[in-house]
Amino acid sequence: MSSLTKITPIKAFSDNYIWAISHPNTKTIALVDPGDAAVCIDFLEKNHCRLNAILITHHHPDHTGGISELRAYCQQKQWPLTVYGPANENIPHCDVKLAEKDIVKLEELRLSFQVIDLPGHTAGHVAYFANDSVEPILLCGDTLFSGGCGRLFEGSAEQMLNSLTKLSNLPESTQVYCTHEYTQANLKFALAVEPKNVALQNYSNKVNELRTKELATIPTSIKVEKQINPFLRSHEQAIQISAVQFDSKSQTTTLGTFTTIRRWKDQF
Ligand code: ZN
Ligand code: FE
Repeated sequence: MSSLTKITPIKAFSDNYIWAISHPNTKTIALVDPGDAAVCIDFLEKNHCRLNAILITHHHPDHTGGISELRAYCQQKQWPLTVYGPANENIPHCDVKLAEKDIVKLEELRLSFQVIDLPGHTAGHVAYFANDSVEPILLCGDTLFSGGCGRLFEGSAEQMLNSLTKLSNLPESTQVYCTHEYTQANLKFALAVEPKNVALQNYSNKVNELRTKELATIPTSIKVEKQINPFLRSHEQAIQISAVQFDSKSQTTTLGTFTTIRRWKDQF
């Protein structure tokens, strides 16, 4: 990330983060998954910023619900606005439809994002990855959470595992901006799956401290997630053993283990 790039969470609903990406030289902002327009407009006005891009990861209303109103707001201000979203989903007012390897160039933010297809949570879910500089940025919606992953609403376990594997192959320094503050609940489950993971225990303590102060646990990094997130670790023997303890028919392959722990988490 260019050292001037700033990414700020705007809280929405009970646990959503709408990420505002800004650059101080231009006072221009891009919003990621604005499910609620009111909190975004409030943010723009308080910070005297101009909105010129919206990036959408998938079609769920808590990620897209604010688009129409924000579009009307920009029209009224006579600000040009471009809405980017996945080609394979029905996104309201989507100007640029994207799929794997497309590039989104946000000139005023000095950033360019590569699009990554991530089917699993929804069929057409995408992420945006910027590798322009020191700390790469990943905007991954509801696919990878800290300590967890999205529910399988439209895709198979195999698709989700492939999608998560793509993300775990990104540079370890990548800063991961997901859209929900689910970390504490995810870690309770992660500890049930892998109680002896010391990195996980330490991370869990740190997260509990942050949450007591009502601070965001996001961004996380690919490096941390590979150490603590059970859904990136189904190849580990400790997790395979736990999966078999949960369901004796669970296959001790990476996919078999992933499938079992995703099902386990749904009931946890
Ligand atoms: Zn969703
Ligand atoms: Fe969501």
